[in-house]
Amino acid sequence: MSFHHRRQILTGGLLSLVDLVSGAPLKREDVSGPRRSIFDAHLHIPSDNGENFQWNLITRTMDDFVRYLDRCNVRRGVISSSRSNLARTAVDFRAGNREVAKYAEKYRGRFRGSCVITPFEIEEALREMEECRKQLGFVWLGETCNYMTGYKYDSPEWTRVMDSARQLNYILHIHANTAEMRYLTARFPDATIVFPHLGGSKNDIFERISIVAASPNTFFDIAGSGIERVGILERAVKEIGSDRVLYGSDFTINEPSAVIARVRNAFLTAEEREKILYRNLERLLKSRS
Ligand SMILES: [Zn+2]
Repeated sequence: MSFHHRRQILTGGLLSLVDLVSGAPLKREDVSGPRRSIFDAHLHIPSDNGENFQWNLITRTMDDFVRYLDRCNVRRGVISSSRSNLARTAVDFRAGNREVAKYAEKYRGRFRGSCVITPFEIEEALREMEECRKQLGFVWLGETCNYMTGYKYDSPEWTRVMDSARQLNYILHIHANTAEMRYLTARFPDATIVFPHLGGSKNDIFERISIVAASPNTFFDIAGSGIERVGILERAVKEIGSDRVLYGSDFTINEPSAVIARVRNAFLTAEEREKILYRNLERLLKSRS
């Protein structure tokens, strides 16, 4: 480890005990860093009805969910409901969002709630977006996953969702393939959109990075596919800039600490790592609070 590299870690605000023991004495401003905790933009809670995106269930309850995040040193996050994502009716997405509100309240200060709707009952969906924003205080909409229930983003119903999201000043978190990303950024350039997942293939990843880089109101959440490819995070930061790249894990599906490891090991400055792991998300949420 070079002196320069060690210094980056020490000033990164991400100190483990090992870093503390093995590193040089810390300056005062460095010591305050570790108190700021990692903030995950992409968490799916286990639903009370047993619905859970995890393929082989090992974290079934909200207590299990929180305990596992503790193991990974993820102390904060934006939570959404898998039940809402699979909803075909307003009854189901409403129930999922109320669970999110319940747990955001129970773990206050730790989680920010997110509203998820599906557009099959569009009037109810728009009403729910308003209720989540005005009564439950949610500022985040998504992660919306159209492939799960088979709806389209280039539809009149989704245009109404996007228009309503703009009026309500929501941050949108939209799972989209590359063609859908192109459509959404061209059609709704003013929308604040977080796109999860860097991508599944080299060409796909490079194009998705280019789309976000060219769309100043968009962000990348680095959860899921793509982040495991060494060098991709560095490319994203180089093209997009470090202000619009967010740490996300997609837990309970994916492993939170694997993404953190890639950020920690990346050829980035301490400041860039801090921005990715929590500062950018703090700033984004604050802009809507
Ligand atoms: Zn997800």
